[in-house]
Amino acid sequence: MDLFEYQARDLFEKHGVPVLAAEVVTEAADAGPAAERVGADSGGVVVVKAQVKVGGRGKAGGVKLAKSPQEAVEAAEQILGMDIKGHTVGAVMIAQGARIAEEYYFSLLLDRTNRSLLAMCSKEGGMDIETLAEERPEALARVAVDPGTGIDDAKAREILEQAGFETADVDAIAPALVRLWDVYKGEDATLVEVNPMVRTEDGQVLALDGKVTLDDNADFRHEDHAALADTAAADPLEAKAKEMGLNYVKLDGNVGIIGNGAGLVMSTLDVVAYAGEEHTAGQARPANFLDIGGGASAEVMSNGLDVILNDEQVRSVFVNVFGGITACDAVATGIVKALEILGDEATKPLVVRLDGNNVEEGRAILAEAAHPLVTIEDTMDGAARRAAELAAN
Ligand code: GDP
Ligand code: MN
Repeated sequence: MDLFEYQARDLFEKHGVPVLAAEVVTEAADAGPAAERVGADSGGVVVVKAQVKVGGRGKAGGVKLAKSPQEAVEAAEQILGMDIKGHTVGAVMIAQGARIAEEYYFSLLLDRTNRSLLAMCSKEGGMDIETLAEERPEALARVAVDPGTGIDDAKAREILEQAGFETADVDAIAPALVRLWDVYKGEDATLVEVNPMVRTEDGQVLALDGKVTLDDNADFRHEDHAALADTAAADPLEAKAKEMGLNYVKLDGNVGIIGNGAGLVMSTLDVVAYAGEEHTAGQARPANFLDIGGGASAEVMSNGLDVILNDEQVRSVFVNVFGGITACDAVATGIVKALEILGDEATKPLVVRLDGNNVEEGRAILAEAAHPLVTIEDTMDGAARRAAELAAN
């Protein structure tokens, strides 16, 4: 999960990374009082910053300096509702202004290729680190960080020296890097980026802009992370599926897809996309990815069908199951029970393809139930074609 800047800032503060006072507002009128509170220590100067999960806000006009509460309100009026690279600004952060002497860059991220962590650091931070990395790679130090030992004072110094900092700067900045390691490890992040990290005219080191990505696989040990999710932006069906513990991704087609096993579901998407092109002139396309896993019970099947049938774009559903640990007869019973549970809510045709363990018994169970919405097909290609045709008609 990617965080908003203000959420990253709050985590920085929690772990002792130096940041400036800030508040978030969603109404321009609230920017005035917020500016009075956070700007008290900076002669009334504040920065009004768009809160969107995309970089380059500065260049897009989403970061504005304000010298009075009135100017803060005006800046908020301009920035709220602005579109930045396809993201609509719904909130602005009012942050205490800083007198910047120098802007640096620091990031720590998971380096999968090298099975390690990678710290990147530069004396030339600010807006466009990608351009710097491309045009003058030597100005961006890259230092491998052992996840077992992380960044202690010595490692922080090594990183800063590699980036070409003078001793006095190394002394001043190293503690912030150690605190940022604390954020990375303590919050189970996969990315912690600060751009810019600044030195102010009076010698303070501050993290002025933060970007943090949290590892969702570690959610179970961070109860407080659930509150960071941007529920307003989440697709309602995806949110519902997540609540039910289903592996679901919404797509924009009209053939709902349920399968057991991620690989099978992926190939089902391909087969349906192909059948849609071949037999319906592109009228039918996959509406989603949904993997109900190996041990699919009737309840899981009914939850899965429930999510898919509530997708207004779905016009037919392809249930593609390969019986393994859970044999086909158990899956077939699951489908029949799921349709019972759903009752009148089941309104769209289902094409079922079963194969594998106990396939004959499974097909017999479906045949006996003879549900008017269910068609049984023997092959994956045949079922894909049938589901595509039903969706296109
Ligand atoms: P980004 O463009 O989305 O990365 O947004 P940033 O938060 O990094 O802001 C962009 C630029 O605005 C920074 O590189 C700074 O030059 C400037 N900026 C941000 N905060 C302040 C501040 O408190 N005072 C001053 N003078 N400039 C700031
Ligand atoms: Mn930035």
